Amino acid sequence: MPRPVGELAPPSRLLLGPGPSMVHPRVLRAMSIPLLGHLDPDFLGIMNEVQAQLRHVFRTTNVFTIALSGTGSAGMEASLVNLIEPGDTVIVGINGVFGGRMADVVERCGGIPIKIEAAWGKVFDPQQIEDALRHARGVKAVALVHAETSTGAHQPLEGLGALCHRYGALLVVDAVTSLAGVPLETDAWEIDACFSGTQKCLSCPPGLSPLTFSTRALEVVKTRKRKVQSWYLDLSLIADYWAEGKRAYHHTAPISMIYALREALRLVLEEGLEARFARHRRNSAALIAGLATFGCALQAKEGHGLPTLNCVTVPQNTDEALIRKSLLAEFDIEIGGGLGPLAGKVWRIGLMGESSRQEHVMALLSALEQIAGRHKGRKPAGDALTTALQSYASCA
Ligand SMILES: *Cc1c(COP(=O)(O)O)cnc(C)c1O
Repeated sequence: MPRPVGELAPPSRLLLGPGPSMVHPRVLRAMSIPLLGHLDPDFLGIMNEVQAQLRHVFRTTNVFTIALSGTGSAGMEASLVNLIEPGDTVIVGINGVFGGRMADVVERCGGIPIKIEAAWGKVFDPQQIEDALRHARGVKAVALVHAETSTGAHQPLEGLGALCHRYGALLVVDAVTSLAGVPLETDAWEIDACFSGTQKCLSCPPGLSPLTFSTRALEVVKTRKRKVQSWYLDLSLIADYWAEGKRAYHHTAPISMIYALREALRLVLEEGLEARFARHRRNSAALIAGLATFGCALQAKEGHGLPTLNCVTVPQNTDEALIRKSLLAEFDIEIGGGLGPLAGKVWRIGLMGESSRQEHVMALLSALEQIAGRHKGRKPAGDALTTALQSYASCA
């Protein structure tokens, strides 16, 4: 007989990586509320509330605005499998890991990805997208990552929806690391399909993918020639569960996750979107100022750095993996390393939602000073903390 495992007692970590982010106690409490049936009229009322909250944070009036079962990648997959049919061409912006993932999904739909590329840390300018649209002709959709978590680059999107529509294409946006962390205007920017994840700037555990489709996108789904190859992610079936008055069984909604998201969204709306964006900017500025004293520079170029995901070069002659290991083992702080071509070269420090707090910035900088002082064999100078505090004072 195997020995029974003990009660769960994981260490309490400060999560400053690329996700999941810290979760507010109110959200954790919501998850312990007893379940309702997923077709219970009271639960349907809760779903309506979550839809209204999501429309608010997405800044949209789209009727089809839901919390899809699954993580952010499920939202990505749902957006593409529902819109793309075999033979369709899709322009995919690749400037990091997640654009690459979208191109992979397009291929799996039988679509033809037209990859436009930018260096990791750079963003696309509208001209590059228009050139691709003009050159390819008959493009079904343009897929872009708003906040590229692998590089910390913040893609400007204003005007791109209108540009796509002039060429008869839809605009699909990955807003996994941007929703509720930086401004996102689904309607004003004419985004047709926009998906996110709960464990980044919404500060909820992973498990749901907020998703919204414009009427234009829904029309494309409705007039498909063939069935969506994924039964689970077929939005025409899922729509019947979320539509008021219908509520037809499709799959069992993850009840506790919906409770959690409702509470996380309540926290977002209590704070207010503008105040929340300003808080993310303030903490990021202080972190970057503090890290600069170690010789860390932003990976994202030309003012396109994300306040939610701070991707910085590691100081010269440092074993970055060793430092991350000490942060975790001695200080209970998690930060992320680099992916792909940036592996070993950058740190990815997430300040998303509840993780974006002054005390967390100060805790990370003091831990890094401790470690740096030890490695260089000198007493830490305290510069990083002073510099960060000056940054806070300057934007007070
Ligand atoms: C995290 C992330 C995803 C994938 O989300 P999962 O929740 O890990 O499935 C997709 N796109 C971006 C930009 C992300 O940061």
